[in-house]
Amino acid sequence: MKATKRFLLTEREIPTQYYNVLHDLKIMPLLNPATKQPMTPKDLEPIFAEGLCKQEFATEQFIDIPDEVRDLYKIYRPTPLVHATGLEKALDTPAKIFFKNESVSPVGSHKLNSALAQAYYNKKQGVKSLTTETGAGQWGSAIALAAKHFGLNMEVYMVRVSYDQKPYRKCVMQTYGATVHSSPSNTTEAGRKFLAADPDTPGTLGMAISEAIERAVSQPETKYTLGSVLNFVMLHQTVVGQEAEKQMEMAGEKPDIVIGCFGGGSNFGGLMLPFLRHQLAGECNYDFIAAESTGCPKLTQGTFRYDFGDSAGMTPLIPMYTLGNDYVPAPIHAGGLRYHGAGAIMSQLLKDKVMRAVDIDQHECFDVGTLFARTEGIIPAPESTHAIAVAVREALKCKEEGKSKTILFNLSGHGLLDLQAYSDYFEGKI
Ligand SMILES: *Cc1c(COP(=O)(O)O)cnc(C)c1O
Repeated sequence: MKATKRFLLTEREIPTQYYNVLHDLKIMPLLNPATKQPMTPKDLEPIFAEGLCKQEFATEQFIDIPDEVRDLYKIYRPTPLVHATGLEKALDTPAKIFFKNESVSPVGSHKLNSALAQAYYNKKQGVKSLTTETGAGQWGSAIALAAKHFGLNMEVYMVRVSYDQKPYRKCVMQTYGATVHSSPSNTTEAGRKFLAADPDTPGTLGMAISEAIERAVSQPETKYTLGSVLNFVMLHQTVVGQEAEKQMEMAGEKPDIVIGCFGGGSNFGGLMLPFLRHQLAGECNYDFIAAESTGCPKLTQGTFRYDFGDSAGMTPLIPMYTLGNDYVPAPIHAGGLRYHGAGAIMSQLLKDKVMRAVDIDQHECFDVGTLFARTEGIIPAPESTHAIAVAVREALKCKEEGKSKTILFNLSGHGLLDLQAYSDYFEGKI
């Protein structure tokens, strides 16, 4: 293992504001499914905290990060930017590869960046309990920890296939004090319907979202939280890209290519949107690449249209690239990428050809995930291996063409709670 170079910021350099791309980018409105009219912040308030509803529609370019949230970011931020010299050497490429290491958060992924903000705005409003869904369990872990910090009760609907495959993630949520249900469950009307239709369903994020929303609106002083897709989640995640910009400057480099794996778009959006701000201002050009799973290819195979964010049709209609809200993705190990649609902001960017998308199959993911662990020392989350795979493809293309490019990708999480997946790979089951 070759020594890597890390670029570190001080606590004082944690961003003080979120960057709001809606100031610089026009997107289509969320629609009320009953009236087909554009939604307003008020329409969302039965489901989400007021502060978050306001952010969903905000158009100011920068929004202050509350002190209480920024203080909690200090537990793990700023996160390191790493020059992946070991990986470069193994690939024998003239390309320079950098990654933003979001795996250093206490829950092991970028999800805490939004979880802390969401818990804060709920607490501020006097909400007592939160509900949510989770796929692989990263969002559930993050919001469970954030809820505990702000003294809120937490109930998590975890997609059944992950609940069964990843018992330790469930245990992490329980350790932080959350109640975890396998979804679909018998605790909601929606869950009972899904079970009646198919008692053996592996579950989907869309089903779990339906359950969590139903629970939130049918209990007093309870609100729902969501770990990706929505505009306010992209907003909170821009701390990642703002830090990365400064760190790339410290490294004396400007990325040519910016890559992130793609579930609903939050870790990729969080990294790329602050860079995009300068491109939209006409200052520079980047090749932005979203890495999705072949097992759930909404960006490369889906269509751009209005669709629901959940299976039961309880969310607003979102203008998105979608495979249909009843799509049941393959039971891939990268549970965080098993979502049928892409957020409105990221969908608009794909439609406008500001970014492009590539799909990667599981086998290639674990090949490069293993290579990354052996050269950089970090075992990446199965989700993050999709981004690494694209970085590796681009670096090898540089080698073929004898060109040097600077590549930046988001290491959205580590895989230490996904070792069953690695084990299956080593046993030739993937
Ligand atoms: C949730 C998750 C993802 C996918 O969600 P996005 O909103 O697209 O970022 C990717 N990587 C990790 C580690 C995750 O936890």
